[in-house]
Amino acid sequence: MPFSDIVGHGKQLATLRRGLAQDRLHHAYVFLGSEGVGKRTVALSLAKAVHCLEMAQDFCGRCVNCVRIESHNHPDVRLLGPLPGKKDISIEQVRALERELNYRAFSNRKKIAIIDPAPLMNFSAQNALLKTLEEPPAGAILILISTSAGGLLPTLLSRCLRLSFAPLPASAVIDHLISRRGLKPEQAELLAAMSLGSLGRALSPDLEALARKRGAWVDGIASLAKGDSTAWAAFAEELSRDREEALGFLQWLEWWYRDVLIYLATESVQEICNLDLIENLKPQAASYSLKQALFLRSQALITTARIRRNVNRRMALENLLAHVARLH
Ligand SMILES: [Zn+2]
Repeated sequence: MPFSDIVGHGKQLATLRRGLAQDRLHHAYVFLGSEGVGKRTVALSLAKAVHCLEMAQDFCGRCVNCVRIESHNHPDVRLLGPLPGKKDISIEQVRALERELNYRAFSNRKKIAIIDPAPLMNFSAQNALLKTLEEPPAGAILILISTSAGGLLPTLLSRCLRLSFAPLPASAVIDHLISRRGLKPEQAELLAAMSLGSLGRALSPDLEALARKRGAWVDGIASLAKGDSTAWAAFAEELSRDREEALGFLQWLEWWYRDVLIYLATESVQEICNLDLIENLKPQAASYSLKQALFLRSQALITTARIRRNVNRRMALENLLAHVARLH
């Protein structure tokens, strides 16, 4: 699987391939872009292109080095994330990485470290990494992966070459799903619309499960819209039983209000994720102002953050759904 098989991101790949061809890769990169658009795939692809035994400045995907990198099992390519059971990347991990990068590579090629998700480095870990970047180890490439620049120290960012990864156009996702995955066009269009420009998301088994659950969620939301004052508490209780289920619902709800906003602003169904639910979406959109839809979308995001911080799920969901019910 060479670079040409990667879906989208032509400009970012061109920058990296130019660096490879001229042997002028930067010592540190930060890849920014929303979840699942392919940042980690590109980082691993770059590592493969550096170490591939079959191809120069590209990668075969089959040689022992490519296979070991793909399975995160190559001695010169390190993937750094939180340790099992931990929420952040610690200073000890960053120091160990720094020591490793200063050793000679096992091959005579570059050592590569990929930190994903980089904002999970706590403050002292980021500071330690900053010191590493002030005197970058020779022959090492560091790649930080993040959904936004927000959680990273500006001083750290300023030492990295920044590559931004945009969501993939729906057409690119559809083409891939039909030609490479053998999906039927209708199925591909639906998954692509729901994927928000993320091939990772379009291919995740969760997305198909999600497609099935949405019917019940839409009915739940619609029943609140009728002003049933007890419905929201019962709905919140049902959703709160399982943490992942609650987070899945909230992610969907954020997309739902995003769709409502798009429909209100453009009166067009283009770019809408819940395209198959458009007949449910239209009456909802008609009952909201842009400001209300924006407010509810932000409430979905806030509730997600609260549940991730382990706030009582049922109370957080009750609070959110009460907002949904009250606005009608
Ligand atoms: Zn190879």
